[in-house]
Amino acid sequence: MKTVQIDVAIIGAGSAGLPAYRAAKAAGASVILIEGGPHGTTCARVGCMPSKLLIAAGEAAHAASRTAPFGVHIDGSIRIDGREVMQRVKSERDRLVGFVLESVEAIPAHEKLTGYARFIDDGLLQIGDHTRVRARSIVIATGSSPVIPQMYQALGDRAIINDDVFAWSDLPRKIAVVGAGVIGIELGQALAHLGVDVTILGARGRVGPLSDPDIKAYAEKTFSNSFRFEPRAEVEAVERLTDSVQIRFRADSGKLIEESFDYVLVTAGRKPNSDRLELKNTSLTLDLHGNPVFDPLTLQAGTHPVFIAGDANGILPIQHEASDEGRAAGTNAARFPNVVPQIRRAPLVIVFSDPGIAMVGARHADLVPESFVTGEVSFEDQGRSRLMLRNRGLMHIYVDKATRLFLGAEWMGPDAEHIAHLLSWALQMKLTVDSMLEMPFYHPVIEEGLRTALRDSVAALKASS
Ligand SMILES: Cc1cc2nc3c(=O)[nH]c(=O)nc-3n(C[C@H](O)[C@H](O)[C@H](O)COP(=O)(O)OP(=O)(O)OC[C@H]3O[C@@H](n4cnc5c(N)ncnc54)[C@H](O)[C@@H]3O)c2cc1C
Repeated sequence: MKTVQIDVAIIGAGSAGLPAYRAAKAAGASVILIEGGPHGTTCARVGCMPSKLLIAAGEAAHAASRTAPFGVHIDGSIRIDGREVMQRVKSERDRLVGFVLESVEAIPAHEKLTGYARFIDDGLLQIGDHTRVRARSIVIATGSSPVIPQMYQALGDRAIINDDVFAWSDLPRKIAVVGAGVIGIELGQALAHLGVDVTILGARGRVGPLSDPDIKAYAEKTFSNSFRFEPRAEVEAVERLTDSVQIRFRADSGKLIEESFDYVLVTAGRKPNSDRLELKNTSLTLDLHGNPVFDPLTLQAGTHPVFIAGDANGILPIQHEASDEGRAAGTNAARFPNVVPQIRRAPLVIVFSDPGIAMVGARHADLVPESFVTGEVSFEDQGRSRLMLRNRGLMHIYVDKATRLFLGAEWMGPDAEHIAHLLSWALQMKLTVDSMLEMPFYHPVIEEGLRTALRDSVAALKASS
């Protein structure tokens, strides 16, 4: 058995691990990067990128089916070739993964190890059955995996996860999506646009990440017109048939429904990958789920030279946060014990649905009642949105009563992903609603809708004073 002595060991070569490796090197440490699974990152292989490719195909199909109100008619039928759709998804995805693989190949061989890492003691890792790494500091950047509730595990290969969707060579006929979080809604709606018969079975009324009751209700209604949506379904039983799955669930209406589907796509949340790490062999303090207790600012586990970045820490399981945390963790690991808190960007979450959903800054659910006012705009009569027949959406922006500072926003609406960036930049620059209204707004643009919401919040401030 080979033993390597190193300053910093990084476990996981994903969106957090790769920047951690670069940051630790830049800080002058000797570093080793350990990867047990396929290289290429979850984001590029089976996450952000292939899901957006599937969504792009869905949008193309959906746009083609909506031209008639403009007086533009497609005479003849729109044909969706599932094989071609999946071929493009996979070939473009592979091209993107190729860029990540090139960057991994450029890492010197003596700085990479292949195999799953597990802890032997606080500073000693076992990699596969071939190498031991004695590290001064360790970054855990092991990502996350889908949670598959027990009842679906008995369905074998008919209960699938996101990874399986991006391995398809054709589209299925009919699927049930279990879970109405971001991944369930994005994949479910894209497949529905591509002609797949989709039923999304949510729980407890969840609609993506939304916490504002009005926006959530609006999104629920809008999605119900796009695919079959049961946000409060109670699944009572599932059964594997020969080539399908039978599901019995109680719908919102109280009706008991029994139906069969080609597959059940399980998108019921994700959990940090800590199972293989054998953290019980360390003196780290673990939480109820067996994950290390850590400081969310420094990402440090107690006073140990161990740092946790990306989906592995469960703070905000999104790509740019993973990447920022990786850099912070790599730097802190190299400079230990001179650990500094990470400066976080303004919170920003986007759901690439149609219409899009976005959340910036404080969630409605986390705001102190009576401390803020809400500015509202409906996009149903918003000028430019209506010209383009994209006039569906409702936005709430939250403004602090005492300081008039912009605090956050939740909404569904056209071009949400772009407006979300404007708002997150305003938040990070600590702008008041008054200074935001001093910014330019071209005419006619969807951003004029945002201006209406900002003005509405000014009126609400006046009314509350
Ligand atoms: C379908 C889907 C769509 C998404 N869409 C978006 C989006 O549009 N925008 C966005 O911002 N985010 C999106 N995300 C989230 C984003 O992909 C993740 O936040 C990001 O990939 C997390 O990076 P990471 O480095 O923490 O994990 P990963 O990239 O998963 O890296 C972890 C690595 O650790 C390895 N590993 C695990 N255990 C061990 C071990 N014991 N030893 C060695 N190696 C180990 C794994 O093999 C893996 O390669 C999406 C996710 C999914 C699933």
